[in-house]
Amino acid sequence: MYPRLSCEQIEVGIAEYLDDALPPDLHRRFEDHLRDCAECREHLQRMRWTIDHLAAGPREPMPPEMKERILACARTGPASPGWSYVPRYPPLPHFGS
Ligand SMILES: [Zn+2]
Repeated sequence: MYPRLSCEQIEVGIAEYLDDALPPDLHRRFEDHLRDCAECREHLQRMRWTIDHLAAGPREPMPPEMKERILACARTGPASPGWSYVPRYPPLPHFGS
């Protein structure tokens, strides 16, 4: 058995996981971690939401470095000093309605 992935490892590889760009064994280890880690599942949901909304945007292809910056922001939340929300991520978007 492989050692369990840490939340930090999930965070680092989550974009690749969503892109299905991970090797199959690593992909499986991500799924194992996500199954018992609610925090990472929530993180994954945010990433997916961000990517869906990027994909639903203008048809023009986004420069990769811009997408990278937006994804990096989605990972860590805005770094502005006025940001008073303590958790690492911005509030969940409203799904549905
Ligand atoms: Zn986790």
